[in-house]
Amino acid sequence: MIPTRRKFLSLAVAAPFAAVAAGRAMAETPACYDPVNLPLSQQSMRRSLGFVAVSTDPKKRCDLCAFFKAGAAGCGTCQLLSGGPVGAGSVCTSFAAKAG
Ligand code: SF4
Repeated sequence: MIPTRRKFLSLAVAAPFAAVAAGRAMAETPACYDPVNLPLSQQSMRRSLGFVAVSTDPKKRCDLCAFFKAGAAGCGTCQLLSGGPVGAGSVCTSFAAKAG
């Protein structure tokens, strides 16, 4: 299907804003690890847990999760990921709030 001129122009206008928003989210994520160089087992576990580097819910973040162990500023490890590195602002579908 060939996109209409109007649709093409709307995408052309929106794309730079989306790129800026994505770049801003990445900039706020500390460099706790290099996702490209994670062992395949870590990458597989992250996929199966629906892991995302930047949580969109301020109440669901790794640093608020019972499985998180704090490390260097903004970073830590996750017990469910076999002690793999995570960012404090990341999250996955197995999030479990710390006991208050
Ligand atoms: S279980 Fe999920 S939300 Fe909790 S620390 Fe691990 S990756 Fe983060």
